Order: sequence, then C-alpha cells, then structure tokens
Amino acid sequence: MKFICDEMLGTLAKWLRIFGYDTRYAKDMDDEKIIEIALKEDRIVLTRDKMLSRKALKGLYIEEKDLKKQIERVVKKFKLDIEKNIFSRCTVCNIPVVGIERDKVKGKVPESVWKNNKEFWTCPKCGRIYWMGSHWENIKIKLKSFEDNLP
Ligand SMILES: [Zn+2]
Repeated sequence: MKFICDEMLGTLAKWLRIFGYDTRYAKDMDDEKIIEIALKEDRIVLTRDKMLSRKALKGLYIEEKDLKKQIERVVKKFKLDIEKNIFSRCTVCNIPVVGIERDKVKGKVPESVWKNNKEFWTCPKCGRIYWMGSHWENIKIKLKSFEDNLP
C-alpha cells in the first residue's frame, strides 16, 4: 500500500515512512499532478482538501488537524501494521534503508550512540544513519499512545 500526502500533511507523510510505508509528499504540486502520480504509481491520496479526495480514484479526506488523530484515521482506515516494517525507510528520501557495519559508522555518530548500539542502517541516497536507540524508545511510547486509541 502506497500513499501520497498533500502539502498540508508533511508530518503525517514522515510518520507513514517511519512505519515503513512508501509515501510521497506532494510539496509544490497542483491537484492534477497529485492525481496523475497517484494513478501512475497506484497511490492513495491523503489530503486535507475534500475536493481533491473526491477527484482522486483512491483518496481519503483527512478532516483532523491534530497529527495523532490523523495517524489514527489512516491506520484504522487502511488497517496498517505500524510495527512490522518500522524504521525500514529513510524518513527524508522515502527509500528503504540498508544495514551498515558497525565499524563503518564509528566517528559518524555520537560516541555514546556508537557504544550503546549494535545495529545501524543507512540511507543509500542521503547517507543518514539510523539506529534504534532513544529515538526508537520515544517512538514506541508514542505508538503506545496511538494503540490505546485503536480498536
Ligand atoms: Zn535518505
């Protein structure tokens, strides 16, 4: 399942990428372009614009302004598995990250991070390095709060 988020939903797009879902962010695109990409790449249009959601073949109008509620709506609607592929995708480039040897990231991440983590991933495009660490813990806590509100 792939998505395209309109300009108003940049943070939602980032979260869907954290969950591992291929999600494009339609920055500086008009409605026609968004619909064209959605059709060509078989993506669901997530939008704050009711008209656009109706024009798209597959679209969901996101009524909520609150991020947490937006995430809940999408997760419920499409029955997303938010843990299975978590952190498998670069949140900036929207492409899958790949494992990288621990020795190769020494000096590129803070010393304490390097010492406390065994596994690292990197984005083949931008070179960002990912690890579970405290970021992971924070996200787990946030996810827990989402899950409490899920059926
Ligand atoms: Zn990247």
